Amino acid sequence: MTSLDQLLARVEESRQEIIALEQRLVRIPTINTGVMPTGNETALCHDLQDFLASEGIASDVLESAPRRGNLLATLAGTERTPSLLLLSHTDVVPIEDESKWRFPPFSATIHEGRIYGRGSADCKALLTCQAMAMVLLRRAGVPLRGDLTLCAVADEETGGAYGAGWLAAHHPERVGATYAINEGGGSPLHLPDGRLLYLIPVGEKGRLEVTLTLKGRSAHAAAPWRGDNVTFKMAEALRRLQAYEPARDVSAEVFRHLPELFALAEEVTAENVDEVIAQLKETVGDEIDMLRGVSRLTLTPTIVRAGVKSNNVPETATIICDARTLPHQDVAYLRGEVERIMDGLDAQIAIQQTALSNASPYDTPFAAAIRRAMARVIGRDDLLWGPGLTTGFTDSRFLRPLGTVVYNFAPGNPAKGLPLSMAHGTDESVDIEGLVIGTKAMVALIWELLVTPSD
Ligand SMILES: [Zn+2]
Repeated sequence: MTSLDQLLARVEESRQEIIALEQRLVRIPTINTGVMPTGNETALCHDLQDFLASEGIASDVLESAPRRGNLLATLAGTERTPSLLLLSHTDVVPIEDESKWRFPPFSATIHEGRIYGRGSADCKALLTCQAMAMVLLRRAGVPLRGDLTLCAVADEETGGAYGAGWLAAHHPERVGATYAINEGGGSPLHLPDGRLLYLIPVGEKGRLEVTLTLKGRSAHAAAPWRGDNVTFKMAEALRRLQAYEPARDVSAEVFRHLPELFALAEEVTAENVDEVIAQLKETVGDEIDMLRGVSRLTLTPTIVRAGVKSNNVPETATIICDARTLPHQDVAYLRGEVERIMDGLDAQIAIQQTALSNASPYDTPFAAAIRRAMARVIGRDDLLWGPGLTTGFTDSRFLRPLGTVVYNFAPGNPAKGLPLSMAHGTDESVDIEGLVIGTKAMVALIWELLVTPSD
């Protein structure tokens, strides 16, 4: 039977094919403006379907709405479980100013070892790696124990209602798996001693929108004492938001792992967490300050409005805040915090939930398989591992309620970090070596989970 080493060598030999698939996907514009009709992901699904069919892999394109296709392809395993879902999305964010782009955004131009184009990194790189991994396993005829499913969804960039959210609601049996791998992590932190630390994002913070409405009394601005200028109340509300100190919280699993990872003298507690983060920033670098987001609620005013006319004393003010919650902080908790901050200001508080915070456990055979797979692919046995929590949200939140353990782990070239890719920005690009490494990572992970006997 084929060995993992042979399979990894085949990935290396398939470099040109990997590049060609990535270019093919980038060249199909799937811009998602968030306003229907948009996306046109079906065009990409049909192209990918042809590609898979030419390798003898059948797939289905399920449309949630006209032209909003989602592709599913399964290689059936002999025992069906544990099953693995390879999740990615096909839609991309709009181009802001095409004239600023170095190369046309859908040209997939290769320049200095990178492929340029909207979606080249987010998320067509992961889709390329996952699809190529599936094809290479199929070509090698490696028998799988559990089912392997490729799932490329629409509409991730505006919330997933036509993509992962729709699939989870209407076809849960097709997307519910034992394990799923999705975008949103996979770049290591480079420690000063040269070691690499991978924090596998096992969960995500929640995202809510808080709208505060404040009231005053209008008057002619020439006699302002006759009114009650609401902007001063607004200034007070903003000052309080700025001064807000959320409770420190170290319940995220990553904090249990920090003492061991960084040889800290003591446990991380709510009392010392800020100190620990400051200390780690010195030794590990600025990126570690993402632990700030993982240890507290954030409540950030993002839009303020007041006044309708320059000679009127304004009567109504609105402050909209972006709130990011930890897994156990619900709407009631957030409301309580906002009420406390706004005490005495008579603010009307409306809270709208975009995404619930959610997490999978870290101590699983899945995490162990990722660790073994990456050690093989990177060729290092000194990699450091721990659980992470992403501060943004992804489609993973739709799969976790189905009982699937989902990790946001899309590794690339560890020498070329993700920020280089300019995802969502001008001149988005992906490192070609990263595509090869990412494909190897998917192959090795499938091998560890679905081919070798389980541990
Ligand atoms: Zn994405």
